[in-house]
Amino acid sequence: MPKWKVVTEFTFNAAHYIKDYNGPCGRMHGHNYQVRIEVTSTQLHASQYCPHPVMVADFRTLRWPKQDSTKGGLDHGVLNEIMPPEYETTAEMIAKYIYDETKKKLPPETQLKVHVSETPNSWVEYED
Ligand SMILES: [Zn+2]
Repeated sequence: MPKWKVVTEFTFNAAHYIKDYNGPCGRMHGHNYQVRIEVTSTQLHASQYCPHPVMVADFRTLRWPKQDSTKGGLDHGVLNEIMPPEYETTAEMIAKYIYDETKKKLPPETQLKVHVSETPNSWVEYED
């Protein structure tokens, strides 16, 4: 079946620490997080900003984590304070958090994949 894949990449800066981690990751520090969000769909949709069914997903919707943390995003925030306590702030769980929050904003039949990287050499992918 024909399908579209929409991909967007962006970065955000944030502080975090890993609770009970025995080592430097247990102390508050920061990362320039690199995020890639991929959405696949066999249908096109309207968006929050456009009434016509012409897109898989609106880039403005997908790029919500890049927004300032005082405006609902993650940029220049403390992830331990922003994310609910059931999420630890490992790259794995940040990817799941971004996935879960993005999924709520998308039409149900879309397929979502989220990549999160703390450094240029390692990353996590999450999909359901
Ligand atoms: Zn870290």
